[in-house]
Amino acid sequence: ALFVSKNRSGRGDAFSDTSLSFYYGNTSYVSVNMISESENTSGKTDSNGFYHCQAGTDLHGDSTLSDDLELYYCEATVPESKVKADFRKEIKDILEFLDVKLRAKDSRQSIQDLFRNITPKAVHTAGASWVEKAETCTVDGAKGYQCSTCGARYYEPIQAHHNWELSRVVTPATQEHGTGEYTCSRCGETKTDEICIGSGFTDMPAFDNWAHPGIDWAIYNEVTNGTSRTTFGPGQGCTRGQVVTFLWRTAGEPEPKSMTTPFQDLKPGAFYEKAVAWAVENKITSGTEPTQFSPEATCTRGQIVTFLWRFMGSPDVSTETSRFNDVVPGAFYEKAVAWAQAAGVTAGTSRVAFSPNDTCTRAQVVTFLYRSQMGTGPIELKDLVGVSMPTKDLMRWNQDGNNMKKELEAAGYDVDLQFAANNPSRQVSQIDKMIEEGAKVIIVAAIDGWELDGVLAKAKAAGVKVIAYDRPIGSDAVSYYATFDNFSVGAAQGKFIVDQLDLANAGDKTYNIELIGGSPDDGNAYVFFDGAMSELQKYIDAGTLNVVSGQKDFESIATEGWSSEKAQERFENLLSTYYADKQLDAVMCSNDSTAQGVAVALENAYDNDVYPILTGQDCDIVSVKNMLDDKQAMSIFKDTRTLAAKTVEMVDAIMKGTEPPTNADFTTVDGAHTYPAFYCD
Ligand code: BGC
Repeated sequence: ALFVSKNRSGRGDAFSDTSLSFYYGNTSYVSVNMISESENTSGKTDSNGFYHCQAGTDLHGDSTLSDDLELYYCEATVPESKVKADFRKEIKDILEFLDVKLRAKDSRQSIQDLFRNITPKAVHTAGASWVEKAETCTVDGAKGYQCSTCGARYYEPIQAHHNWELSRVVTPATQEHGTGEYTCSRCGETKTDEICIGSGFTDMPAFDNWAHPGIDWAIYNEVTNGTSRTTFGPGQGCTRGQVVTFLWRTAGEPEPKSMTTPFQDLKPGAFYEKAVAWAVENKITSGTEPTQFSPEATCTRGQIVTFLWRFMGSPDVSTETSRFNDVVPGAFYEKAVAWAQAAGVTAGTSRVAFSPNDTCTRAQVVTFLYRSQMGTGPIELKDLVGVSMPTKDLMRWNQDGNNMKKELEAAGYDVDLQFAANNPSRQVSQIDKMIEEGAKVIIVAAIDGWELDGVLAKAKAAGVKVIAYDRPIGSDAVSYYATFDNFSVGAAQGKFIVDQLDLANAGDKTYNIELIGGSPDDGNAYVFFDGAMSELQKYIDAGTLNVVSGQKDFESIATEGWSSEKAQERFENLLSTYYADKQLDAVMCSNDSTAQGVAVALENAYDNDVYPILTGQDCDIVSVKNMLDDKQAMSIFKDTRTLAAKTVEMVDAIMKGTEPPTNADFTTVDGAHTYPAFYCD
């Protein structure tokens, strides 16, 4: 059963304003959060504490579901495959049902806007709670809450559910999953389902988690038990004494020839005694000092791979292809790390970091042992491409980003796609992270083309190629630029006004016009403006077009951040100051988001039978609707699929060492930087 309700965690955000929760079974849920990009999108608990998971494991974000929404799912209780199969369609249906609202241009819309009729106006804070009516296997119950602020009582459903308990093992779980018969302890109903050997652990990672097979293997082979009857402790560290013991058990607990070791810090009779003696005999360890083994010290990742490598007979391996830049040349673990990488024992903590001094967790230890014993083979890593988009606010950037991700993945690359909420410093830190992660190429649609020099210089120093996407960037680190013919875009807007008003044949007739440009930190904004003025200027000079406000130069007509709200504000002022009793014939809006602001301003502050011609670009959905409603006259469809495809061609050529496609040289507006570009039609 799929439940959709407002967040009902009972932790004070029972009436959350920004999330929809989809419940599955009794404990798991999928939360669709209407979050702004400035909020946490990492999948961890956000500043409002929304993304909770009762099993205490990570929640995973999946932003592919819808442009404005994030889907989170809980890994431990609902494996990814199940989420995808069971939830996605149903959630999509519901989202489609809500489409009109969800696609409103401000993605930070409130749940209360969606469910006006069923949402209490006041927000309660869950205080005391009680079970008003217990649920059964088939009938929902109800939980009561008292609001700790106003004292009101309110109720939320407790979903009907079975209490499944494993009643019979049908096929025993070995290293592979088995099947079991489960019986409901309440109503006696039975079902057959998968079991794994670690089923008894409440913190057992999901079937499709990387740590699952290693833990199953370790328990089956008696390499270790849990940390308690009900917990495995996958995230806990391991001591050196434990790790050597795990190794010794993996080897079949061979009797050491002698119990003599050079170490003075071993506790007589300790569980690790034979294991350490065996490890010394087999030259697996020589201790942390000549007379110290440090059995209680936590084992690092560098140490475990070294133990393992020696245990496997210290196979010779070249260290030249190591991709980890935190592996110190000549360090004791250097060869072991190279072997672990080549043998598929570990892929590192990121594609460029091995983190040799980090504590090795219990999940990692058993996974390394398992992979080394099963010969799982090298782990193939794809090259990483970073895609840094400015914002999700305008539909086009969502399409640009998602198109590129799809195409790059189809071409065999891993992709890190980020949106920066129109916040330049956030974009800098996202790009910085891409460099740290080892991206080979980074595609950037700059928010502020003059603020990226520092981080892009770092990219260049690290050998990362940078492609400026759609917008120019003032930096020497840019290798290529893929964009549209932006001058033509502006010229088409200007020409549209000229043609619609038939200015060429206007004679003495004059028309009133206003201009609204793009963001001053976006180099494109100047190019669009120049393009439009290439058509309009001569009619302004001749007096056929009259800019009543007198605001004609780029600085006075620019719109910071291309913001609809700023465009609206400027226009409402302008309309009440200059057009109280005047007709406005045309507004040259540089794009759709500014045109949308102007359309709202016209609705609020313009009272004349003649509605002005509004231009735009992007064919944003809101603007297409405005065109159908005669609130905007035109838009320019720049097919972002073409631009994305061209950019992917560039990436592919860079990766393969061939020449990327270009058809022009571009120079930034300050004349400081020139780079090869491809202009799409
Ligand atoms: C893009 C336009 C977009 C604008 C605002 C420009 O750089 O080329 O398509 O409307 O930014 O996001």
